[in-house]
Amino acid sequence: MRRKVIAGNWKMHKDLNETQNLISKLSNGLAKEEFNCDVIICPPYTSLSEASTLIKDTKIKLGAQNMHFEDKGAFTGEVSSAMLKSVGCEYVILGHSERRAIFGETDEIINKKIKKSLDSGLKPIFCIGETLQEREGGVMKDVIKRHVTEGLQHISKGEMEKLIIAYEPVWAIGTGVTASPEQAQEVHLFVRGLIAEIFGGDTAENIIIQYGGSVKPNNAKELLSQNDIDGALVGGACLEAESFTGIITSV
Ligand code: PEP
Repeated sequence: MRRKVIAGNWKMHKDLNETQNLISKLSNGLAKEEFNCDVIICPPYTSLSEASTLIKDTKIKLGAQNMHFEDKGAFTGEVSSAMLKSVGCEYVILGHSERRAIFGETDEIINKKIKKSLDSGLKPIFCIGETLQEREGGVMKDVIKRHVTEGLQHISKGEMEKLIIAYEPVWAIGTGVTASPEQAQEVHLFVRGLIAEIFGGDTAENIIIQYGGSVKPNNAKELLSQNDIDGALVGGACLEAESFTGIITSV
């Protein structure tokens, strides 16, 4: 049985005060609820250290939204995996479609980041997903296959135990349009098949594949009850404690 994992990607939201408020509401809310999944929050860099302190006595885990693949050097504005670890991060989101589309991250760059994060002991939440144009153009599976094979080049079977995949159809991110549970399940099964081809059936059976794209408390249960959907990567709905808690408790 794979354990469900719900992660919240705060993106460029929440200053320090807002971070304190949200974590306080979230931890109070979760303390009153029964839930059976791992919960990860991924605040912006400026809030990571504070968040790490605030979640210390809770079940919430900490992740970052990005990192550089080099250890240190003249990379103005960038942050290394060791820096993330030093402020208490356990996870890092890599390959998010906004990083790919707005910041020009290629499969090669994402692969370097995945390798570095694993080398440093950070667990990657590796995002993949097609655009609407790619889906409608009939190349969805080619795109997903490219993301998976190129993103996971030179990653070992052992390292795969630390990695989470997040399938996030770009057309469903921040749009309010969710993939139907059947559409999402179809791609998750396809991804699990790709993982089986590359790493073997046992790795495929154990790997966590999250769905992301307009997940809300009212659609989470149906999505999460699909056989191959092992959790959610949540954007908009993780910015309010009530809606994020609603998704967590729907597991
Ligand atoms: C995301 O950006 O990872 C995401 C899934 O956003 P939203 O839930 O807002 O669609």
